[in-house]
Amino acid sequence: MCYVKMNKDYYKILNVDKTATEEEIKKAFRKLAHEHHPDKANGNADKFKEINEAYQVLGNKEKRSQYDQFGSTFSGGGFNGAQGFGGFGQGAQGAYNINVDDLNDILGGFGDMFGFGGSRQRASRRRERGRDLEMTLTLDFKEAIFGAEKIIKLNRDVRCNNCGGSGHEPGAKIDTCAACNGTGQVISNQRTIFGQMQVQTTCSACAGEGKKASQDCSKCRGRGVVNDNSEIKVKIPAGIDDGETVRLSGQGEAGSKGAGSGDLYLKIRVREDKYFKRRGYDLLTDLEISFSEAALGVKKDVKTIDGEVVLKIPAGTHQGQIFVLKGKGVPRLQSRGFGDQLVEIKIAVPRNLSKKQKQLLEELEKEGL
Ligand SMILES: [Zn+2]
Ligand SMILES: [Zn+2]
Repeated sequence: MCYVKMNKDYYKILNVDKTATEEEIKKAFRKLAHEHHPDKANGNADKFKEINEAYQVLGNKEKRSQYDQFGSTFSGGGFNGAQGFGGFGQGAQGAYNINVDDLNDILGGFGDMFGFGGSRQRASRRRERGRDLEMTLTLDFKEAIFGAEKIIKLNRDVRCNNCGGSGHEPGAKIDTCAACNGTGQVISNQRTIFGQMQVQTTCSACAGEGKKASQDCSKCRGRGVVNDNSEIKVKIPAGIDDGETVRLSGQGEAGSKGAGSGDLYLKIRVREDKYFKRRGYDLLTDLEISFSEAALGVKKDVKTIDGEVVLKIPAGTHQGQIFVLKGKGVPRLQSRGFGDQLVEIKIAVPRNLSKKQKQLLEELEKEGL
């Protein structure tokens, strides 16, 4: 599976020029990271994460040059150079690309009709690529952490199965288009302010196909696509976070006359959890202990995302102290390993003391506690 994270202006995030030197980028990162560190009083975890992400790319020579060239740091299967990137005009923030070849689990049996790679169709003639679609997908807190398979209902144009997208009625007689002699292109002379110019345009008689059928497809009336309700199964990768976007290449609307399909963008929303808070790949939880436990030390069962663990709290623990449960956080998208769980200690101050408790506390007070 391949993810592509893209379309964020990392230069803007780090507040540096496109021509900034390595040193300047490093300096800018340090300054901003310092400013927005989540442990700071007015820190901002999201901002901090973003800065980190930008620096991971711009701070690395190879990744930076790739980013400068493509606006992305990774590319892979099913991804078709400039054509693929063309679909990003709509500001899909931090989109993850999922190669649909990995999602061969498509319901409804039209998986084969899409030509997911796209290169086959794109190489032949320029036709109108299908529209991109955008949807919001809401996940439970744990689904985002562990990944999930979701069924998505779509109403979209899909390739007509009567004509296979050609728009021709099966068995119809196919003739070479007379208007363009089968080339699909017509050359016309146009007078422009620069003088007479030869302009090559798509043949309107055959819509660039170079051939014409004696009869249009009866199902799609020659469009090559029909509107349909369909369901697709989508694998959401483990570790995805609220606000991120998953891109499913080729799952948008089918293009007319067999042109490539658009992409489907899933904007991810994640429901909150009562117990866990998420900060990037780390999980934050509170643990309440009594002040005698804090003073004397105690062992406590702590809920983690995959069961309970025993946390040993040493004597002399103070309010707000954070214990790190290594690797008990969220799996890292695009890389290995997990974040941590950060357990913050809340010391409960007792109310409604019994007479005896009060007496004992008064004695403690006399002892200077
Ligand atoms: Zn023609
Ligand atoms: Zn048809």
